Amino acid sequence: MRKSFTSLLLAVPFAAAMLAIPACQKTEEAAPVTANAPQAVTESERLRFQELGFDVSDLRKVGSDFLVEGDMIITPQALGAMGSPVVVNGPRGEQYRTYNLVRSPQVITVRGASLSTPISQALDRAIANFNALGIGLTFRRVTTGGLIVVRESGSGAGGVAGFPPGNGSPYGSVTIYGGTRNYSLDVCEHVVTHELGHCVGLRHTDWFNRAYSCGSGGTEGQGTSGAVHIPGTPTGYDANSIMNACFSSTETGEFSTYDRTALNYLY
Ligand SMILES: [Zn+2]
Repeated sequence: MRKSFTSLLLAVPFAAAMLAIPACQKTEEAAPVTANAPQAVTESERLRFQELGFDVSDLRKVGSDFLVEGDMIITPQALGAMGSPVVVNGPRGEQYRTYNLVRSPQVITVRGASLSTPISQALDRAIANFNALGIGLTFRRVTTGGLIVVRESGSGAGGVAGFPPGNGSPYGSVTIYGGTRNYSLDVCEHVVTHELGHCVGLRHTDWFNRAYSCGSGGTEGQGTSGAVHIPGTPTGYDANSIMNACFSSTETGEFSTYDRTALNYLY
């Protein structure tokens, strides 16, 4: 359902002021993550994701990794690590988070690989968003190496990232779709910040019903212990969260009040 919704919107990206665009849509257009011929997901792998609480309706293989719930790349190593969730003090969640967090404090180096000017500027802004929080994670842009590499590829709008692999480091790769740069710098900032949020373990704030931000779709699945509400953040829909599943062309690119509360709590 979401797939056809996405295609419809992408066909008329500027037709409406409040159109909802999946922040991390399916990746048909994203060459780096679809270059390999897809392998079949085995029944035992499907069951494993199901028992972890994921929505397996669009689960598929991308190279040797898994792509689940539209925009989450999970490596086989990360899948294996999910059997023993990271123990943290207090509730788990962003507003909602995945099983693995990243080590804190730490400096997270980020490199942009041949980015267009808008996306490069958006990356600087996204890094500033995190650093303005004054949390244990310090993001630093670098020109060589980098714990996270941000690339630009494909023709849609949005991006794709993954969850922390469970070794204390963030997920190492973000792809921003090439059509994103046609939107405002604020929207580009929103998308890059959102994807970096996934890299440090944030789930979609409206995981329980994507229809809130996307206009259609349902739950992404709670996970066995991966979506516990944090005191001080809403149990319902936070329309301003940068981690909602879909975004509009009027996003500000800034964290919501409760996004800040959540990240301060976690890191
Ligand atoms: Zn996302």
